Amino acid sequence: MLPDAQTPQEPSPGSAPADQLGRPLRSLRVSVTDRCNLRCNYCMPQEEYVWLPRQELLTFEEIARLVEVFTSLGVTDVRLTGGEPLLRRDLPSLVAMLAANPRVRDLALTTNGVLFSEQAEALRDAGLHRVTLSLDTLRPERFLALTGRDSHAQVLAGIAAAGRAGFTKSKIDTVVIRGVNDDELADLIEFGRGVNAEVRFIEYMDVGGATDWSLDKVFTRAEMLERLAQRYGKIAAFETRSSAPAERFALPDGTVFGIIASTTTPFCKSCDRSRLTADGLWYLCLYAQSGVDLRKMLRAGACADELAARIASIWRARTDRGAELRAATGHRGVFIGIDQLRQDPHLAGGRE
Ligand code: SAM
Repeated sequence: MLPDAQTPQEPSPGSAPADQLGRPLRSLRVSVTDRCNLRCNYCMPQEEYVWLPRQELLTFEEIARLVEVFTSLGVTDVRLTGGEPLLRRDLPSLVAMLAANPRVRDLALTTNGVLFSEQAEALRDAGLHRVTLSLDTLRPERFLALTGRDSHAQVLAGIAAAGRAGFTKSKIDTVVIRGVNDDELADLIEFGRGVNAEVRFIEYMDVGGATDWSLDKVFTRAEMLERLAQRYGKIAAFETRSSAPAERFALPDGTVFGIIASTTTPFCKSCDRSRLTADGLWYLCLYAQSGVDLRKMLRAGACADELAARIASIWRARTDRGAELRAATGHRGVFIGIDQLRQDPHLAGGRE
């Protein structure tokens, strides 16, 4: 029988690559722009960087073609990100193109929420499945100090708009930094409960962009659990970790929250994520400092099979476990210096 064009076909065993540590190619983060409308001091603290020239950005058609190739190799989860993805004009058109790919089982967006209320309905109508909104504080003055922008009310409006537009399973991601917002964990959980979103606390990471990072500013997973137990009582593990980055926990009343402990408890062993930059470089690890130029192949006329063969062979050779290697570093400090970040638009918050 001929395969139905609408039915996703399982990739054949020969084409679904596993890397050197047995990790499948399953989850792809697609950055649609390197630019951002916030200047979070843990991510993109400078006003100016060298930005990618417009003609070097992948078009939506090019992104959809590459995603088609990735999904033919086993990718099922696609997350649009940036920079700030909502700065890319007409994002719902891209969402519609990706939502039409039947192999994409989970189509998600990570946004800072500033522009989300204007676009929530269009994104939902275009077929976006889920949204994760970043929110580090409930206090407007802290938000201004952290992000350099007075946009807190817009972010809260964006979070409210997610529910109104019919999104379920929304998440709120909070980077926890000692002495900055570690006193807001319970408040954020209460807020998340009110808007029907699961809160996930992220340990402060020394990724590119975090030029002010130091180990003593990392409010650890253990400290988060202790702080929350003081307030709520016994905290239970909710489920064992899958390949998702967050470990999930439940409060005594059943409220679930997550912790992403990449700094103190890296989870490279199960990492099935790779990243495509807005200009088509493919990075195999968040800590990688160079990527594979897929745009060049695409624009040189490579067909889907050629792209798939190259991607599969690179994935099969993958050994990356950047977070574990960083954790093993004796004297841990800033990972990428400001001069390098200013010059390379791929490194500062441009591919997360
Ligand atoms: N602009 C979008 C946003 O704010 O959600 C998407 C890109 S942003 C780089 C993706 C996520 O990475 C955000 O939740 C952000 O807080 C997180 N992030 C950035 N720098 C980080 C760091 N140094 N440590 C931990 N998380 C970080």
